[in-house]
Amino acid sequence: MAEAAALLLPGEAEALVQALRSGSLLNTGDHGWLRQHEAIEKLNMQAILSASASQEQLLIELLVNYAKIPTLIEELISVEIWKHKVFPVLCQLKDFKPKSTFPIYLVLHHEASIVNLLETMFFHKEICESAEDTILDLIDYSYRKLTLLAAWSTNGEFPTHEKLLPEDLTNASSMQVPVIRDRIVRENSGKWQAIAKHQVKHMFSPSEDELKHLACRWARTYNLDVMEALVPEKPKCGLCGSEATKRCSRCQNEWYCKRECQVQHWQKHKKACNLMADALKKIKEDLKVQP
Ligand SMILES: [Zn+2]
Ligand SMILES: [Zn+2]
Repeated sequence: MAEAAALLLPGEAEALVQALRSGSLLNTGDHGWLRQHEAIEKLNMQAILSASASQEQLLIELLVNYAKIPTLIEELISVEIWKHKVFPVLCQLKDFKPKSTFPIYLVLHHEASIVNLLETMFFHKEICESAEDTILDLIDYSYRKLTLLAAWSTNGEFPTHEKLLPEDLTNASSMQVPVIRDRIVRENSGKWQAIAKHQVKHMFSPSEDELKHLACRWARTYNLDVMEALVPEKPKCGLCGSEATKRCSRCQNEWYCKRECQVQHWQKHKKACNLMADALKKIKEDLKVQP
């Protein structure tokens, strides 16, 4: 890619970075949380687009100047704790009968979005330095994940949390120990059930209208052009498999290298195309209803 595809204008990126903050575990999934999730998702996409054109200087400056790397690390650990402490309790609650599990999925996906953003940005020295002491918390987090992976690949058992001790790190004698996880667990200890109950009632039982509103916001965040720029491989022709540049204009879902291939493929593609085109039409109509 010669030029970075822009998803965010510099001013937009700055506003999103500036607004990042660490919220409480109790508010996971509420409106403010959703706004922040959307912001992180946009910054994440922008980071990938910029990095593939080696133009991530602006994002580096923003994250360093506003000192938001520690905020992102704290947010990452908070969602990890939610997943292990609140989510299992929440699923067992009697009144957990959501019309859609999409809002829950967003919380689970949140962890991946933050990891992805950090992974792209930690390529740069200034970003690593700006993590300051929270770098230990991030190493501790990574260590937990690796322990999990290792356990799964050997005996499929779920290991208990092992903490990374300072002596495990080389040259760590003057370093502090990770503190974020312990602090959040301590603050919420004994409240997991209450948090789960509150969240089922106020955040994870969306009405039809709320779901529609959410879907519209997401359709805007994940627009097709940006998504395509994020995928490294070029699309392939639905008939012959060679590199494709033309998309079926009806369903936007199948690619072709030339007109002949599309014509030949039509009998096979017709059924799927009709289904997709109908769904697309419905989404567009719903979008029009929303302001
Ligand atoms: Zn073809
Ligand atoms: Zn089609």
